[in-house]
Amino acid sequence: AQLEILVVGGAGYIGSHMVEMLLEQGHRVVTLDDLSNGHRDAVLGGEFVQGNVGDAALLDQVFGEHQFDGVMHFASFIQVGESVIHPAKYYHNNVTTTLVLLDAMRRHNVRNFIFSSTAAIFGEPHYTPIDEKHPEHPINPYGRTKRMVEEILGDYDQAYGLKSVCLRYFNAAGADPEGRLGERHDPETHLVPLVLQAASGRREAISVFGRDYDTPDGTCIRDYIHIMDLCGAHLLALEQLVAGGESAAYNLGNGSGFSVQEVIDTAREVTGREIRVIDAPRRAGDPARLVADSRLAREQLGWNPQFNDLHTIIQHAWNWERKMAGVG
Ligand code: UDP
Repeated sequence: AQLEILVVGGAGYIGSHMVEMLLEQGHRVVTLDDLSNGHRDAVLGGEFVQGNVGDAALLDQVFGEHQFDGVMHFASFIQVGESVIHPAKYYHNNVTTTLVLLDAMRRHNVRNFIFSSTAAIFGEPHYTPIDEKHPEHPINPYGRTKRMVEEILGDYDQAYGLKSVCLRYFNAAGADPEGRLGERHDPETHLVPLVLQAASGRREAISVFGRDYDTPDGTCIRDYIHIMDLCGAHLLALEQLVAGGESAAYNLGNGSGFSVQEVIDTAREVTGREIRVIDAPRRAGDPARLVADSRLAREQLGWNPQFNDLHTIIQHAWNWERKMAGVG
């Protein structure tokens, strides 16, 4: 059935791919984004409202004009290091404004909520791959904001019947296979786009943060998941809630880890270009290995990731980077 969906933060990296997918599948979309980090031209269709998710009056207006089947919330600050230095910014933006959004949903009787959570809620892993039973001990304010919202959502379900699915992303990467969208953070801190900027010449080199980890090649291992597979899980989760499903939380990765060195090597293969590497010290708070156990999402959502090979993820990200850099 055709759904009407509010996508908060739909002008950002993951949100814009979500909007694209929803439109392609024939759903109606309203994007709300204050463009503090997003890009207006990344919203490829539907209705666009520029504004902040913490603006209750604006939310009342938007909710009053539509009959949303659900809300997807992508608007949050995501820089771990910044969250340590400026926690107030993170607690206000990631927690307080989310409460404003949830309360608007209550006022307007919208009951289905899909929340962008993160592997950072688990902190230093006790074991890998990380399933949903893994203890949650976030080690920075960013991770704590996401954990807090997950707990709030549990209480809102119990008391108000607001249903939610929390999706804990591991390392989102890649881009729209058609090349219309990609990752455009400023500053960029993520490994895949940085490596590709070093390949295109937009950046001098890539720094490798530590080669003395307890992993086969000494560099950190992460679980890179293609952005379209990630978005696919959001749609399945919303459809499940709309069909009367219960609240849930799922870890989303593709279950295989790749090291920083493997990402660089694969990027060299895909791009056919030289990538200069600088060995740098460890970055604070980086666990050696973060890999998801996503069996629950596969079983309960019927999620079946299509692009789980690193080569494809980097190829799609490279198509976008070439466009950004204006190289052939
Ligand atoms: N990394 C790196 N150089 C960079 C950026 C990241 O070596 O310029 C490493 C980082 O230490 C981590 C991995 O790449 O082990 C993925 O980092 P990213 O910031 O992309 O995602 P995170 O895992 O922190 O969410």
